[in-house]
Amino acid sequence: MRALLAGNWKMNGLKASLGEIRAMARAFADEPPTGDILICPPATLIGEAVRAADGSIIAIGGQDCHPQPSGAFTGDISAEMLRDSGATAVIVGHSERRHYHAESNQTVAAKAMAAHRASLLVIVCVGETESERMAGRALDVVTGQLRESLPAELEGSQTAVAYEPVWAIGTGRTPTAGEILQMHEAIRAALLARHGAEGAEIRILYGGSVKPENAGEILAIPHVDGALIGGASLKAADFLRIARAAPRR
Ligand code: PEP
Repeated sequence: MRALLAGNWKMNGLKASLGEIRAMARAFADEPPTGDILICPPATLIGEAVRAADGSIIAIGGQDCHPQPSGAFTGDISAEMLRDSGATAVIVGHSERRHYHAESNQTVAAKAMAAHRASLLVIVCVGETESERMAGRALDVVTGQLRESLPAELEGSQTAVAYEPVWAIGTGRTPTAGEILQMHEAIRAALLARHGAEGAEIRILYGGSVKPENAGEILAIPHVDGALIGGASLKAADFLRIARAAPRR
């Protein structure tokens, strides 16, 4: 299974930032990465990011989509619109969406179904809060989120799960290698139990303060099939170092 290295720019990036994508494209042309590469800029930049990445290995994705294909939903963007603008992937259920927009697991599942309908690769995010981990509930919380946030019918090769402990996002803190291994093993077991052969094809990414300095160790952990990277995906130099750290699997 090829690793997936996905960058989430969040609400960061103006036209000038497209230079970072061009720099990544040039570097990957000189030295192709071992994994698949995805950058998810803000929606305003998707069209131009697609053009900046044209002819390169870099795929461009959205950070969210609406469950419906079109309609009276002011300010929202559908999976079909992302596809139309040249995106080939979308993140759904990021903890910032769950928190700031009160998105439930059911909403996230509907968005994931919309992504499938539009033939987008979908990255479904799950992860426990710090208090849930302290209470010893991390495994239960994450497997519960998985059960409710993934559609029952899915295409494994077009689906990734990102395990992102909420307390590790943007904080510089990460779980230990053992904690990541335990969670990724549990996620794989849950995916196999519910989705059978399709579940075996779903890539399980780790996300939360992945940096050039820790990427090698994290990406070498069994059952870690790639990473979702926030802050460190904004600069080509950092993202390239992370992508280069992915082992060939
Ligand atoms: C994220 O936004 O999904 C993320 C993991 O952020 P960071 O890498 O900055 O912790």
